[in-house]
Amino acid sequence: MTAALIDGKGYAAALRQRLFKRAERLKQLHGVVPGLAVVLVGDNPASHIYVRNKGKAAQEAGLQSFEHKLRESASQAQLLKLLAELNSDDKVDGILVQLPLPKAIDSGAVIDAIDPDKDVDGFHVINAGRLATGQPGLVPCTPLGCELLLRAGVPQLAGQHAVIVGRSNIVGKPLAQLLLRADCTVTVAHSKTPDLPSLCRTADILVAAVGRPEVIRGSWIKPGAVVVDVGINRVTEKDGTMRIVGDVAFDEALPVAAAITPVPGGVGPMTIACLLENTFTAACRRRRIDPETV
Ligand code: NDP
Repeated sequence: MTAALIDGKGYAAALRQRLFKRAERLKQLHGVVPGLAVVLVGDNPASHIYVRNKGKAAQEAGLQSFEHKLRESASQAQLLKLLAELNSDDKVDGILVQLPLPKAIDSGAVIDAIDPDKDVDGFHVINAGRLATGQPGLVPCTPLGCELLLRAGVPQLAGQHAVIVGRSNIVGKPLAQLLLRADCTVTVAHSKTPDLPSLCRTADILVAAVGRPEVIRGSWIKPGAVVVDVGINRVTEKDGTMRIVGDVAFDEALPVAAAITPVPGGVGPMTIACLLENTFTAACRRRRIDPETV
């Protein structure tokens, strides 16, 4: 058996095309163009690239994008003032503060200062609570992307045993809630879980969100399982070149799994597509429009 590749890149491109058409309809029917404000503090070069890419992706999907850049030396009070302005700006439907923030700024306080209905990253405690209690809210983009890929690739999620390795607030925990909502039986593992290989071998769906290159070996995978690899790890080869690998030993997984997301080109592209989806959803809900009808 060779695992089928779950084409996150292709799926994300289709999602973005569909969103472009929905954005056109939203404008025609309701005169609304969803707006995404991305806030960047400091000089982190990777963050500058991410912010530029998010702005470009928003424009390509027919959304408005607003970039706000603050200096590395900006105070928390300055950032909170900007967020208060964005919260009350009707053109802004989604607010994303690019992380990590400079050390002097308390990220938790910043996330809490975003209007939960504009919190397109889905990190606000109110959105975490809404997800946990089954209320409509904004769901973190990476787990939402994983769920969409699984829904596309697994005919029946109900009753499947999903093992998620990783319990972060941005990936593992929200994905556990989403898969519970999809009627999977969910086990969340972490660094203190004993005998992780045996646990992984019980998974019909195995999600790796660990942040350690190729920690999940082929022998840990149940034959026929569906594997979602969230990890993005930069490794240096013997010849000094850099390579991006996931948390799963991909070549070992290929002959065992039924399907697997590649890295890159799997979950990564879905994250940005889901950010745009969340902005669209937020724009609709703020105006009492059901996003499913657009
Ligand atoms: P965190 O570091 O916040 O969490 C990692 C989790 O993995 C923790 O729960 C930790 O356990 C667990 N863990 C660490 N080592 C082991 C181990 N040896 N065995 C079992 N569990 C272990 O990471 P994130 O959730 O933020 O990200 C995870 C990965 O996903 C990273 O590679 C990141 O780059 C990638 N990522 C990719 C995105 C995308 O768009 N594709 C978006 C976000 C993240 P404990 O809680 O006990 O410490």
